[in-house]
Amino acid sequence: MTLEKNRAVFIDRDGTISEEVGYINHVSRFNLFPYSATAIRLLNENGWLAILTTNQAGVARGYFDEAMIKAVHARMNEGLQQGGAKLDSIYYCAHHPSLGDAPYRVDCDCRKPKPGLISRAAHDFDIDLPSSWMIGDRYSDSEVARNAGVKSAFVLSGYGRGEWEHQKDTWSHQPDLVAENLLEAVEQILAMA
Ligand SMILES: [Mg+2]
Ligand SMILES: [Zn+2]
Repeated sequence: MTLEKNRAVFIDRDGTISEEVGYINHVSRFNLFPYSATAIRLLNENGWLAILTTNQAGVARGYFDEAMIKAVHARMNEGLQQGGAKLDSIYYCAHHPSLGDAPYRVDCDCRKPKPGLISRAAHDFDIDLPSSWMIGDRYSDSEVARNAGVKSAFVLSGYGRGEWEHQKDTWSHQPDLVAENLLEAVEQILAMA
């Protein structure tokens, strides 16, 4: 028995683990980045939990249903498995505060940058938040990290490079780490630990 809590890396989906292509309303639009399996495998091998957290408000907007999210995630898990990697869990928010119909039209506690997805995972997996990280390609991912009490790694894939070059001066907080992509972010996190 150990009294030590788990450390986790929370990972954004679109633009971070896979190509940012807008709403993914069909599995054929989902493409893992070629380095993602290696990045997740490194976390697996080093005893870190790897947990995906993603906003999928396309459900609230009526663009696709939750079965589509599950199909996309099955494809993602297949790709990761082929690279010897495994996500420990996936948490998504399908809500939107002002668009669509009930039950998805709701001012929930889990739409990033609110911390609900991370705090739910922290409870489920007994995670030590201050020693954990959130990796994402948007400033809102850094905000969710701050709101949840984890460190933030900003990646330049997806929307990252554009936000970094054109918007970072407007950010009220800077990320704890900036990396080219998910793999480099994971390598830096492991090196610091
Ligand atoms: Mg993203
Ligand atoms: Zn939500």
